[in-house]
Amino acid sequence: MNTPDTPPAIVWFREDLRLADNPALREAARTGAALVCVYIADPDAMPGAAARWWLDGGLRALDRDLHALGGRLVVLDGTAQACLTHLIKRTGARQVFWNRRYSPPGRQSDDAIEDALSRADIAVHTFNGSLLYEPGDVRTKAGEPFRVYGAWWRAARQAGGPGRPIAAPDTLTFAAVPHDLEGHVPSIDALGLTPRHPDWAGGLREAWAPGEAAAHDRLDHFLAEGLRDYARGRDLPAEDGTSRLSAALHVGHLSARQVWHAAHAAVHGRHGGASGRDLEKFLAELGWRDFAAAQLFDAPDLVERNHRPEYDAIGWRDDDDAFDAWAKGRTGYPIVDAGMRQLWTTGWMHNRVRMVVASFLTKHLLIDWRRGERWFRDTLVDANIASNVVNWQWVAGCGVDAAPYFRIMNPVLQGEKFDPDGRYIRAWVPELADLPDSVIHAPWSATAMECERHKVRLGRDYPEPIVDHKAARQRALECFERVKRRQREG
Ligand code: FAD
Repeated sequence: MNTPDTPPAIVWFREDLRLADNPALREAARTGAALVCVYIADPDAMPGAAARWWLDGGLRALDRDLHALGGRLVVLDGTAQACLTHLIKRTGARQVFWNRRYSPPGRQSDDAIEDALSRADIAVHTFNGSLLYEPGDVRTKAGEPFRVYGAWWRAARQAGGPGRPIAAPDTLTFAAVPHDLEGHVPSIDALGLTPRHPDWAGGLREAWAPGEAAAHDRLDHFLAEGLRDYARGRDLPAEDGTSRLSAALHVGHLSARQVWHAAHAAVHGRHGGASGRDLEKFLAELGWRDFAAAQLFDAPDLVERNHRPEYDAIGWRDDDDAFDAWAKGRTGYPIVDAGMRQLWTTGWMHNRVRMVVASFLTKHLLIDWRRGERWFRDTLVDANIASNVVNWQWVAGCGVDAAPYFRIMNPVLQGEKFDPDGRYIRAWVPELADLPDSVIHAPWSATAMECERHKVRLGRDYPEPIVDHKAARQRALECFERVKRRQREG
């Protein structure tokens, strides 16, 4: 039991902004010590602009949830090590609890802090609060990292499912925290995580509700409505066919374990009529998140380095105009433009369209995947270093288990196949809304009469294609083949 003499325990929240299934919080509470719940806004670890907006809402929601239990979230602004050391000194805490991070910068910082605290005789307790399988849990028989997703996933499934999630605590005991702490901010407002002048976050506010309770609502909605047709619906960007949980998973409003078990319960309880096939497909997608984390854990330099070294020789084009057209959704290819506008407005883009726009940037425009990855990092609410880098390298062809270089997605065919009635285009590229389905994915193929009848002036209301598909495809193939040839010739 806690007594006034028992030193408090610190729970350091990072990518686990929730009370339920939070092993660090649960274990800290179990010690019986009063808790200091802290978040540190470390300038060295700040996410991109859209993810900062999302973090702001997440911190407010967690603070509210802690208030409901009689406590609060202490928010500090400064480098993590300095803030934590100071907090320990001022509160007299002897133990710190956190859930592990796996991204290269997070890990590097955590290792250094753990070392320093251990040397100062502060006990550090760390847990897996984020992944189904931690890096290192799933290895080949020879103990090596897997490089092929299918093989990794089969081995992961054989290892069994994750443990049961932990319920949220009914009560917690909180320690008093001195107000004059170094780095202590008067309110979450003072962190300045949301945009002010201009306030560009209107679309994000409309699209997303932060917090643990909202994430569970979203999960319930998906399990009732989306999971039953996931294997098919997940590829159709106009439908609400995927969970849209990536942002909640990234800041940890939900754990992957909770999602896993809730999805199992939904299918086995026949809730929403989902089949085993839908469930398996959904879990396999969830698995990609762990696979990506494991790849960067084993090779942290993949954040910048091509996994396939032959790609170092590609002469990526330095074309700012083309990059701007791509980023602003003005390439003249409707599916690409719809995706980039959905991203800009809502901070999220459908997975199928992420693949199309990434392929367009790296293959049609021959622009370095790292530029696209940085743009996504700044504009996605779910921006996650591992998932972003691994997927970008996968699409560009230079990554682990990557699509072969000659697979160049045709943006017109992708549109026709996955958005056959043009609903996605009409939602995000309204200037094409009146065009008939037959030409909506290739407006340049409309006759002059059709354009006039449907009020589209190509080159004025909507751009002509910035590259010709056939010519761009040929340029990319020649470039990749040159690189391959050089590699063969040594
Ligand atoms: P669902 O289909 O409902 O999937 C459930 C969960 O599984 C997702 O929430 C996500 O956590 C995980 N997941 C699904 N697909 C993938 C995948 N391919 N890789 C990793 N995890 C996956 N995802 C991010 O979370 N952050 C990123 O920064 C990110 N960048 C990407 C960049 C590119 C170029 C591409 C092609 C994909 C990227 N993804 C990223 C993966 C994927 O697009 C998103 O996770 C997914 O669209 C999120 O929507 P959802 O939650 O509805 O997914």
